[in-house]
Amino acid sequence: MHEATIVDAMMEQLSEIVRREGAQTIRSVEVVVGALSGVYPEALRAAFEAAQPGTVAEHATLSLRVEPARWRCTDCGAEGTTEEWPILCERCAGARVDVSGGRELLIAAVELFDTDSTVSASETNHV
Ligand SMILES: [Zn+2]
Repeated sequence: MHEATIVDAMMEQLSEIVRREGAQTIRSVEVVVGALSGVYPEALRAAFEAAQPGTVAEHATLSLRVEPARWRCTDCGAEGTTEEWPILCERCAGARVDVSGGRELLIAAVELFDTDSTVSASETNHV
């Protein structure tokens, strides 16, 4: 996956949120990245930072939360979570595991500034 493309879509979503809420800019964004989504959190952060100037998220801080995948072994019934492929059962080392979750990529929370607080907030962010 191309992180820059993801960030473009994210920025569109963010300006939509800002317009809808009647705010001016965004203070912070929390994004959930599934551990198996194929997106590298650090690459996503770099792409986000590169895209920030001139957008509603220009002074926003980005927090990334990696969401692990859950697995359940169909052979022995063991369950657990993992953040990487390949997924083998931790108890019997079997490869017959059902995997759920860990593939999402979504904006979990957005904190907005209203018109009045935008200025002071931008100043603090420059420190
Ligand atoms: Zn097992």
